[in-house]
Parts: sequence; C-alpha cells; structure tokens
Amino acid sequence: MQKIISDVVVVGGGLAGMYAALTAEQQGCKVLMVCKNKIGRSGSSVVAQTVHRVAEQNTLNQELYFNFFWQSGRFMGNPELIKTLISEGPRAVNHVMSLGVHFEKGVETLPNGGEITRYSCEPRKGKLLTTPVAEQVRKSGISMLENTMVIDVIFQAGEINGLVCLCKNKILLVFAKAVILATGGFGRIFSETSNPIGITGDGQAIAARAGARLTGLEFIQFYPYRLRWPKIFDLNPAIFDQGALFINEKKERFMRNFPKAEQENRDKLAQEMFKQREVFLDLSGMSQKDLEKHPILADLVKQGYGSHLKMQVTAHFSMGGIQINSEGETDIPGLFACGECTGGIHGANRLAGSALVECAVFGPRAGRSAATYATENATQTITPPTLNLPLLGNDNIRTLVLLLRPLMWTKAGVQRSEGDLLQCQSELIGLSEMLTHLQPSSYQHWFEAKNMLQISKSVVESALVRRETRGSHLRIDYPNENSISQQL
Ligand SMILES: Cc1cc2nc3c(=O)[nH]c(=O)nc-3n(C[C@H](O)[C@H](O)[C@H](O)COP(=O)(O)OP(=O)(O)OC[C@H]3O[C@@H](n4cnc5c(N)ncnc54)[C@H](O)[C@@H]3O)c2cc1C
Repeated sequence: MQKIISDVVVVGGGLAGMYAALTAEQQGCKVLMVCKNKIGRSGSSVVAQTVHRVAEQNTLNQELYFNFFWQSGRFMGNPELIKTLISEGPRAVNHVMSLGVHFEKGVETLPNGGEITRYSCEPRKGKLLTTPVAEQVRKSGISMLENTMVIDVIFQAGEINGLVCLCKNKILLVFAKAVILATGGFGRIFSETSNPIGITGDGQAIAARAGARLTGLEFIQFYPYRLRWPKIFDLNPAIFDQGALFINEKKERFMRNFPKAEQENRDKLAQEMFKQREVFLDLSGMSQKDLEKHPILADLVKQGYGSHLKMQVTAHFSMGGIQINSEGETDIPGLFACGECTGGIHGANRLAGSALVECAVFGPRAGRSAATYATENATQTITPPTLNLPLLGNDNIRTLVLLLRPLMWTKAGVQRSEGDLLQCQSELIGLSEMLTHLQPSSYQHWFEAKNMLQISKSVVESALVRRETRGSHLRIDYPNENSISQQL
C-alpha cells in the first residue's frame, strides 16, 4: 500500500480548498491537495456565476447587511459566523483580486436600505475565477494529487492522523497532522440539480463517520432561475428589472401579489414555482435593447422559442453541513472544514453572492488554523486502519443512484410531509441494503453512492424532526414557522 506524509492535507480542489491550501502553505507547512477530479476545474466553483456581494468596511451597511442576512436565513444562521463573513468580506475580495482575478464592480441597495458592493467576473463564468487561483496553487510549493478520492479520515488516539484515498482503484494512505475538508455540497443526491458531477456530500459523510457534528441538513436551497428548455442555463435575475416575468401553464403571473414578485427570496420563489404545473419565462415585456444585453436569451427568441422558455427549480446549495467555529475548526482535533461542505452560516436560506465570499473568508481561516495545529502537534505513530471494501465485480452502481436521486427529489425535495419523508426513509434503507450486495467495477462509484445514501438519510431525519416551515424547508403538514427568540 502506497503511503504519503504531509503536514496539512486539503481535500477538494474548488475555491475553498485552494484558498485554504495557499494560506496553509504561506504559514510554512508542507501542504498536499487531494481532489477526486481536477484542481480548479471541478466542483460548483468552476460553474459559479462569480458573484460576490460584500458590505464595505466600517459602515452602517455592514450592520444592515448582517440584519438582512440573519433575517433571510430565518434566524437559523450562527451570528458569530455571519459577523465574521460580513466583517472580513471586503478584505477577502481584495485578496481574491491579488491572486489575479479581475472583477467588475457595481452597487446594489438592500431591501432594508443598506448598500452592498457586487463584484463579478464578466462574462460570469466560474473558470475566470478558478483558473487564476489554480495557477497560484500550481506556482506554489503545494503538492497535488488529482483524480484521487478520499474515502475516510484516519482517526486514532483522539485526533485525525491522515486519510484513506482511492487512486486508480487502489488504496493510498496519506498521513498528516491536520486535514481540511473542502469537498463542496451534496446537491447530486437530487435528480434536479445545478451541481456538477461529484458533488455527492463526501466530506459531510466522512466527517460524520469520524464523529464530527453536522448541522442544518434539512436546509437546501432550491434555485428558481434555471432555464430548462430549450437550453439549460442560469438566468441573470437583472432581466426581471427589465420587464421579464414568470407565468404558469394558464399564462398567469403567479408571483404578481408578492412584494418582490419574481425577485422574492429564493426560498419563497422556488416554492411558489414548484406549486405550478409548469413555469415559463415571458420576455414579451422586455425592450429589444434590454433583450440584446442577454445574448443567449435574445438568440433563443430569434430562433422562435420566445413563448416556450421552460423553467425548472433545482437543488442548488447545501446550507447545512459540517459544524465549524469561526476558525474553521470542527469538534474533532485536527479536522478543519471550509466552503459549502460546512453548515451554520446561512441558516434556512442563502443570499445570492454569499457562498463565494464564504469560500474566500473561511478558506484562509481554515488554512491558518490547520497550519497552526500542524505546527504545534507532533506526528503520531499510526496503525494502518482496517478497511471494509466491497468485493469487485461487474455491478452497475448507476442503477442504484438512478433510484436514489428521483426518490430524494419527489419525497424530500422542495415540498415535504411526514408521510413522504417516512416513505423515503424506508426506501433509503432498502437502497442501502442493495448497496451492500453490489460488487462494483470501481470502488469510487460505490463509495460515492454510500456517501449519497448516508447524507440522504441525514437530510430526511433532519427534515422529519423540523416540524415547521422555515426558509427553504417547506413542510406542507406544518405550514407555519414556529416562534423562536430572534434576540442576539
Ligand atoms: C451553477 C452555480 C452557480 C453559482 N453561482 C454562485 C455565485 O455567483 N455566487 C456565489 O456566491 N455562489 C454561487 N454558487 C455557489 C458556489 O459556487 C459554491 O458554494 C462554491 O463554489 C463552493 O465551493 P467549494 O470549494 O466549497 O466546493 P466546490 O467548488 O464544489 O469544490 C468541491 C471540490 O471537492 C472535490 N471533492 C469532493 N469530494 C471529494 C473527495 N471525496 N475526495 C477528493 N475530492 C473531493 C471536488 O472534486 C471539487 O474539486 C453557485 C453554484 C452553482 C452550482
């Protein structure tokens, strides 16, 4: 069995992982990044629309942004984490620019009167963000292991000592003093998702198996702005200021009576869209001049699709995940986490433009904490762990995943009820049983399915326990929000 030794290992090659690795290396540590795909070219980071929203430093705007953020998350976000995100946001965006990213800047007004600055790459393509950052990683002394999947952490003598990985279907052990999980969300457990392949909740499942606490798994953001037909792409919500509307199959503008109409908070909008049989994008109210500012839409109209632009709500962002404090520490010594695999910042709903800022603020924080931990702690003598691997064969794991994803979408997706969740829970037990008998040709597919099943079960359990409707968590059998203290 091949073995590698490092001070700090970062799992995941998205933005959070890259920021964490760069910081840990700057602290003088030997750093290794392990990614199951390509570093800087995988995960949600590379498909992101690049929007970062921050309230500039030392202004009343930071206070107003905090209030808006906390209220939008329906008072479920951790105030300490939100404060860190908001106070460090501007500095973090400057740091991203210092890594070679070019942003366009704009100013926006919050519904409570505050002002925030929007930074985005133009055009809004994630690779404009990830490519320069990945170049910095390649130029640094960080070692990289790509196409290598982490399947578990090695947890011995009360602390993390390394990782068990899979590379070309072979087991590889990595010994390290500190591990940072930056594996992204778990949107792929749903059949309708904007998340790319590989976003299967591995980090959350690994952390939970090691005994770390997860939080808020019932809160999943369902995204309302994805055009499904005749082309799949995410709309720029600015079109709704220019006359675009959503209509249903009866040609009714179903958001008409909501204060912000098509620009309602994402949770409300997605839920209203889900209630319609079909939702179409109506561009007839846009001027030709405005339409031409959106070339893909203008093109579709030119091709005659103007009255057939079909929308689809999709699972977009995992608000829940590994519980961390503002230093990126989990409750396990030596285990750190950052980015979308963590939970607790956004609460029950996420504001647009906050996830990338989260990576930029908490990635470096986790990197710094892990480096300090690695410097202060000696390497342990490690006993190679016992591994429970499935027997290899010719079974197709995809068959199971194709049952799991629609099950989660229909029974534990946008709209939930106790009956559906209990049925889902029992079908998940059946699928887990099925997995234990499968003999895959690739260990990676088997372990991804195992993680997806584990996280699906946790999502369903959390959704069952939360007997209320709050933010993105809609329980049709408990349609009201329970009262809680909103005092800080
Ligand atoms: C279509 C889309 C548009 C978005 N637009 C915006 C936006 O404009 N603004 C905003 O703020 N947010 C946006 N978001 C959200 C934001 O992009 C993500 O929250 C953020 O990029 C997550 O970064 P991350 O580094 O935590 O994870 P990711 O970028 O998802 O990276 C996870 C990495 O971990 C690797 N990995 C996973 N499991 C393992 C394993 N077991 N072993 C090894 N490697 C593993 C993956 O291969 C990947 O490299 C968008 C999301 C989507 C899907």
